[in-house]
Amino acid sequence: MTKARFALVTGANRGIGNEIARQLIDKGFVVFVTSRDVDKAREAAKSLGDSAIALELDVANETSVKNAAEKVSGHTSYLDVLVNNAGIMFEDRMLDFDIGNINKVMQTNFVGPIVTSKYLLPLLKKSANGKIINISSEMGELASLEYGGYASYRLSKTALNAFTILLGSELKATSVKVFSVCPGWVKTEMGGSGATLPVEKGADTAV
Ligand code: NAP
Repeated sequence: MTKARFALVTGANRGIGNEIARQLIDKGFVVFVTSRDVDKAREAAKSLGDSAIALELDVANETSVKNAAEKVSGHTSYLDVLVNNAGIMFEDRMLDFDIGNINKVMQTNFVGPIVTSKYLLPLLKKSANGKIINISSEMGELASLEYGGYASYRLSKTALNAFTILLGSELKATSVKVFSVCPGWVKTEMGGSGATLPVEKGADTAV
């Protein structure tokens, strides 16, 4: 009998995260479909079928992440894939930024993946092939920063890319690999209706 493969996706109730969960299930994974709102997690898991397990997980709240990791441990002794997908964005510039918005974006898009990775690493290390996939953005690339706009979002994704490299290097001696990926410009609530890619294409890089 083949061993079950387990994945956890943050912000999986809608958008790219929901589609990543769907495509991983199609590939045979059991997926922890997480949302900061447990009812939304349950609704999303219900629509994804028997291989979806609903969990509450607010990446901006350490206690919520810790509780979710404990619940994952109740289902499985290892985790193969963590997708740090949850994200938010504000339309701001460096010169007129709102410190409250910067804190919210950094907490969700940058600190969230750090905290989530920390609590799930013990399970990822027990997989023969553990992977952390950070959903980043071209907008965080150093070379694209000069275009400006969405300043707090750009800062958070640049920092996320730095975290990816640092964590990957610290985990070199283990079987866990860490990646940053850009989904492209995708039609979701964040991407808007003018985006060039359907959600299926936005999810496939991470999958
Ligand atoms: P979206 O449609 O706005 O969905 C964002 C998801 O993140 C929602 O499920 C949202 O949950 C969740 N979320 C926000 N804050 C959270 C928190 N504190 N804890 C847990 N979940 C939280 O956005 P998307 O387009 O699918 O984006 C997904 C990822 O792709 C993000 O990291 C984004 O930066 C990245 N990305 C998107 C594009 C694009 O063109 N769309 C391009 C490059 C990168 P709620 O429903 O509760 O709000």
